[in-house]
Amino acid sequence: MSREPESQNAFLRVSGLAKRYVRGGLWRERVVEAVRGVDFEIAAGRTLALVGESGSGKSTVARCVALLEKSDAGQIWIGDTDIASLSLSALLPWRTQVQMVFQDAVTSMNPRFTAAEAVEEPLLIMGKDEALRRETVRSSVNEVGLSVDGIERSVMQFSGGQRQRLAIARALTVRPKLLVLDEALTGLDLSTQGQIANLLLDLQAAHSLTYLLISHDPAVVGRMADVIAVMAGGRIVEMGSTAEMMTAPKHEETIRLLRSARAAQTNLAAITGASL
Ligand code: ADP
Ligand code: MG
Repeated sequence: MSREPESQNAFLRVSGLAKRYVRGGLWRERVVEAVRGVDFEIAAGRTLALVGESGSGKSTVARCVALLEKSDAGQIWIGDTDIASLSLSALLPWRTQVQMVFQDAVTSMNPRFTAAEAVEEPLLIMGKDEALRRETVRSSVNEVGLSVDGIERSVMQFSGGQRQRLAIARALTVRPKLLVLDEALTGLDLSTQGQIANLLLDLQAAHSLTYLLISHDPAVVGRMADVIAVMAGGRIVEMGSTAEMMTAPKHEETIRLLRSARAAQTNLAAITGASL
């Protein structure tokens, strides 16, 4: 196993990450190079936002980092360990370090769950005993600002924002160090987005969490990210501090994304009469 030179304070270092998919039937195969050599690092306790148009490879990077999918090439370093090189059994202890929250995470998991079951599931998989599970579920639910009184209700009875809080509570049960947030705020109304962004910032400060954030909303990215990386065609085409990227974007893709985001905001303001 090769050793990358370690930069100070990086919690996660991704190097040369690549992933391809083969699609199609017997007669015609099409290879999709979803991620083609991606490098980035995230300092401990900080947030890196991956932005880019649909299909640019963001979710593929997210799934590889969250160990939900095996990359074809490259390394994913946490400290001295390249978690991309580990066997399934060696991966087990690392699975708790990285947790993922995506759009409408709880109901896409199992709409028949009660809130308590949805939050508890990772602990069940880990074989934790009932007393510990109960206590951990209660404290996680409290931490995301929900009351434990209603947690025996079906997840479908919770609003979209509350369900995302449950998804965050579920991720927190295993005491992760890195949260991968793939469009976790998408689809929520603006004020709910703001509240959940605040919650994530509070949790980050309280637990020194590191975030890999994927969002197409520059308001969310501007508020939460320390560093922004722009993806196009499976590569990172520009990366820099949030201030730099928002005020002096260089790559045409970054400029295009910012322009279309501004246009969307203007349209939204016109529709809702809101001042943004
Ligand atoms: P993004 O999240 O930026 O929208 P994705 O990572 O989902 O992009 O997708 C990148 C490319 O990989 C797209 O062309 C997509 O169609 C393809 N892709 C993603 N997942 C799969 C899959 N499971 N099978 C086949 N192709 C996929
Ligand atoms: Mg995606």
